[in-house]
Amino acid sequence: MNTLTENPANGQSVLSVVNSQPHSTLKEKDVNSPTETTMTEQEIQQLVESQRQYFRSGATLSVEFRLQQLKKLRDLLHSHEDELYAAIYKDFGKSKHHTQLTETYPLFEELEMAIKNLRKWTKPRKVKTNLLNQPGKSFIVAEPLGVTLVIGAWNFPYNLSLTPVVGSMVAGNTTVLKPSELPAETSHLMAKLINENFEPSYLHVVEGEIPETMALLNQRYDKIFFTGSPQVGKIVNKAAAPHLTNVTLELGGKNPAIFAEDASVDVGVKRLIWAKFINSGQLCLSPDYVLVHKSIKDRVLERMVNEIKKHNYSVENGNFVRLINERNFDRVAAMIDPEKVYYGGEMNREERVIEPTVMHNVTVDDAVMQDEVFGPIISVIEFETLDEAFDIVKSFEKPLAGYLFSNDQATKDRFLAEIPFGSGAINDAVMQNTNTNLPFGGVGNSGMGRYHGEYSFECFSHMKPVLEKANWIELDLKYYGHSDRQMNLIRKL
Ligand code: NAD
Repeated sequence: MNTLTENPANGQSVLSVVNSQPHSTLKEKDVNSPTETTMTEQEIQQLVESQRQYFRSGATLSVEFRLQQLKKLRDLLHSHEDELYAAIYKDFGKSKHHTQLTETYPLFEELEMAIKNLRKWTKPRKVKTNLLNQPGKSFIVAEPLGVTLVIGAWNFPYNLSLTPVVGSMVAGNTTVLKPSELPAETSHLMAKLINENFEPSYLHVVEGEIPETMALLNQRYDKIFFTGSPQVGKIVNKAAAPHLTNVTLELGGKNPAIFAEDASVDVGVKRLIWAKFINSGQLCLSPDYVLVHKSIKDRVLERMVNEIKKHNYSVENGNFVRLINERNFDRVAAMIDPEKVYYGGEMNREERVIEPTVMHNVTVDDAVMQDEVFGPIISVIEFETLDEAFDIVKSFEKPLAGYLFSNDQATKDRFLAEIPFGSGAINDAVMQNTNTNLPFGGVGNSGMGRYHGEYSFECFSHMKPVLEKANWIELDLKYYGHSDRQMNLIRKL
């Protein structure tokens, strides 16, 4: 693992890179680990069993308990905010402001929302009762699922690990969290903070790589919440199948952005470029490629370059981050075809930085179109008719996000009706994710299930439907023989 040695506080980068090899600690415990958070398979089994016992005791059920634990987590994170920023800076040069914008502020918002709405969300939800069941009432009771496993991705390590944990807590479950091992400092810090402050039988962090994740997946849970690649999502789903465990998969894909002939180019490109280069494109919702109508292609390309120059992206400026590791650096670098670079293309492997890069004249056969980019490259593909653009999008797996830039209602209607995607925006990109009233999740190859805000509460609950009958009367209609007259009446009721 590469780590950076300088203090983030001064906003200066960086740049001595320390090499240490990642290692698995499943069989042999890492005695040098400051946190003792890696576990043997047997310890993992005991941990899950202790959480099951704790859940069965009913301790997590009351609103008071849930509120107390959520507030504890909130206060813990607030009181260690500086440490959170320092750790993520060490992992991939991410500045405090960038981290606030994309990690801690959204996470704190989720926490505050959960604390504020917990009483409301946990109340039984009344629904209408049909005539046949009168006199009676019908309602939906939110039931915690039990023991949950949350597996996080590396690109927003706090947000993608702890936001699902908040959902699990607010719904009244116990939780085992396995953060991604790639940002080692953030993983260690989350483990240290949580494991020193929460009962393991309620909430515990297990650090590790593939063997530890597999050992975790060998256990039985009531819910698994996974964020990561579709490839690993399939492994998780397979591990859940023998127990019919409820699974939410938050995965990725190639997210298209379509610039129709009538798009407002200046404001559209401004929004697109901001969305593309957050976290250096290491964002699951990042626009992956741009389909641009032939008539506006030159203007779009020119505006893209202007916007990139205006941002003055660099790790030193706090608005750009390193690629997470050399493997990902090499993967993204291999996607750049120098013949097709319109702007950028410079890179520094030692510092794991690739300049914001625009490629043009791209076709679906190019290397950059074979896999999710997940890095700072945007490709421009030209089209003449909307059918042509839609056909290209539909030739790929269903993406996590879809974006359209257009002012024409008929084009918007077609986009919404014909293009499948997890979530999307019209005349913007990524920002749909900042509205917690909208659920977040994928479809098909980009995932299943949804969360954020109240949807997180539902994601980690069983919404249990109940009918309660009054006892003062009982109609004989459904009993005994069924004449045509009786059947007609039942049908009407
Ligand atoms: P990943 O699938 O490699 O890793 C995710 C988690 O799975 C990590 O905790 C890792 O330790 C574990 N893991 C990795 N390989 C494993 C294996 N063979 N067996 C068992 N566990 C394994 O994903 P990543 O590299 O961390 O993240 C990048 C991917 O995640 C991209 O596809 C991106 O689009 C997607 N992503 C999706 C969202 C979302 O919310 N939908 C958010 C961020 C990232």
